[in-house]
Amino acid sequence: MERRIAEFLEQREAEGLLRGLTPVQRLGGGKIRVNGREYTDLSSNDYLGLSSHPEIRKSAMEALSPVFGSAASRLMTGSSLLHHILENRVSAFKKKPAAVVFNSGYQANVGVISALCGKGDCVFFDRLSHASILDGIKLSGARPFRFRHNDTGHLEELLARERGRYRGAMVITETVFSMDGDLAPLEEIVRLKERYNCVMMADEAHATGIFGKNGTGMAEEKGVSGKVDILMGTFSKALGGFGAYVATALDVRDYLVNTARSFIYSTSLPPAVIAADITALGLIENEPYRRRVLLSNADHLRGELKKTGFTVTGDSQIIPVITGDNAGTVRISEYLRGKGWWVTPVRPPTVPEGKARLRISLSYDHTKETLDRFIRDIADVKRNRRT
Ligand SMILES: *Cc1c(COP(=O)(O)O)cnc(C)c1O
Repeated sequence: MERRIAEFLEQREAEGLLRGLTPVQRLGGGKIRVNGREYTDLSSNDYLGLSSHPEIRKSAMEALSPVFGSAASRLMTGSSLLHHILENRVSAFKKKPAAVVFNSGYQANVGVISALCGKGDCVFFDRLSHASILDGIKLSGARPFRFRHNDTGHLEELLARERGRYRGAMVITETVFSMDGDLAPLEEIVRLKERYNCVMMADEAHATGIFGKNGTGMAEEKGVSGKVDILMGTFSKALGGFGAYVATALDVRDYLVNTARSFIYSTSLPPAVIAADITALGLIENEPYRRRVLLSNADHLRGELKKTGFTVTGDSQIIPVITGDNAGTVRISEYLRGKGWWVTPVRPPTVPEGKARLRISLSYDHTKETLDRFIRDIADVKRNRRT
């Protein structure tokens, strides 16, 4: 095994794909400090700037006494009163009869999919689905069918051919895709899941707090909340906290509490974290201007980046600038770092081969003036490359 490890590391290094960890100090206001230098953080998922919001920090501090840790799993004595309050709030927020909180989005996806699907079932999922969805499917033992990204024609083809051969079927999609920032064709997927009698699960990790009139997500924006059986999302991104939720029917919630192993066999989140999550939901309601400014700035940035000649995709606060080759992508990100911008290069295997990119994720903390400075700097990269 030692040899395999050494060979792996050498090969990754040679391909320019070796990843490592950098100690980062988050300063709030969309800034980070790395190795003593300050940067504007264009890589975080703190889309609304809530992780530094004074009300959220205050709620967490107030919930720090008399204990910090929760000291047990939910089914033992770790089901704090705050957990129950949060679940009631989520269920009202997502307009679903019930909700259950998981310790993270990763644990939610792995737990939900492997609890609800099993041998004899099948799962249809988008090719660009998050690793936690893929791992949940793998763990479930259900037969996986991968449809081309956002291609409902392909999904229907697979459903027509395969659905009848399995007992249960689940269709899974993200609503805003994490690496491409584009939106799933939810209405069409809902139509297909009804036609082919499937359960549908939507991962709103990047949409919760941002899309929809009330900021509850893309299912709300597209008017399909009632038809998506399982709405999953996280508190760790736009909500600035930690943990995840699943909003669904009462019996599905009860079933998950009894069968989702990542829920059952893990110590529950500390009450201070849950208190912060509760406050974050309130802020989505009370400070809607944050999501409006964010999406308007994202439109502005996307438009300006396109003018510089880069390939830019997405329809959200996630703005990928596709740069293609791995080494070039790293070079551009290093150049930008020199100018005070922290933009992480995303390379295979996180994204497909040849689709390396700078994944810019915007935050409410980034003002239009800041973005215009960034646009000037990245435009210089393009100019220098041509000459
Ligand atoms: C981030 C993410 C998750 C995992 O959520 P965590 O709370 O960070 O574990 C799940 N699904 C998608 C699409 C994500 O982007």
